[in-house]
Amino acid sequence: MHYFKKFHVEPGSKVDLSTIDASFKDHHESHQHALPEIETYRQKLADLQYLMYAENKRSLLICLQGRDAAGKDGTIKHVLGAMNPQGCTVTGFKVPTKEEAAHDFLWRYHRTTPEKGQVAIFNRSHYEDVLVVRVHNLVPQQVWEQRYAHINHFEQQLADSGTHILKFYLHIDPEEQLARFKQRIDDPARHWKISDNDYAERPLWDEYTTAFEAALSQCSTPHAPWFIIPSNHKWFRNLAISRIVTETLEALNMKFPEPTVDINEIKQKYHQIVAEENTKPTQ
Ligand code: AMP
Ligand code: MG
Repeated sequence: MHYFKKFHVEPGSKVDLSTIDASFKDHHESHQHALPEIETYRQKLADLQYLMYAENKRSLLICLQGRDAAGKDGTIKHVLGAMNPQGCTVTGFKVPTKEEAAHDFLWRYHRTTPEKGQVAIFNRSHYEDVLVVRVHNLVPQQVWEQRYAHINHFEQQLADSGTHILKFYLHIDPEEQLARFKQRIDDPARHWKISDNDYAERPLWDEYTTAFEAALSQCSTPHAPWFIIPSNHKWFRNLAISRIVTETLEALNMKFPEPTVDINEIKQKYHQIVAEENTKPTQ
């Protein structure tokens, strides 16, 4: 099964999250059962990121969105854990600072988009400006309504300059969210993660659903697709995202750059290796 196609939001389609099973886990019986596949994709991801870094021609932007406790942090740990930190950046977006709020809404996001050869991960993203902002009426409707078009133009501009964009909505259901909040209560090492605000947002579940559905429906484009990832099973979420990132990078047919030096000359000059020995396997 091609995960890119399976979880991709078809541009122009109308998303109804109630029809999507947050507990989907494909043919895998359990985490244990999926481990070999998870490991395979971690390794592929590592190799592809190395190639992107070496090629230094294009970049990848991964945006993670989801409700509280949907698993944005866990996804970053998994996906990034497979990569060389030198080629990656992670930016988390919180309530805008005074300086950020004094600029146009895209300013703070544009500043941390990836440079060539780099992968950037956004933990929350410019979509907050049509999610929390819309649900809490932080700006008038006519302001947030225009933002879908602004976002599509922004992403088009990034894509035109060589940035590949993948956007993941981590789909959990309300029961799973409450169970995860409870696990935080039960684990003193995770008490710091608990916020009143997380509980306060739960009664707004349906308002958030409407806002997510609007963003997913209006902003999934060929150059910046959205994916809805069933995320009740953390391991399946990690597997699905690693597979989609891998499938995307594989399709780019990246190549290592040609060496900038004459390898044979270097071999002879510094390693005393003569040309006919070149084909011998090294011991
Ligand atoms: P966390 O990701 O748990 O650290 O929480 C960050 C908080 O910042 C969340 O409650 C977000 O909804 C909020 N946030 C992020 N971006 C914005 C934004 N543009 N406007 C208002 N609140 C935001
Ligand atoms: Mg939080």
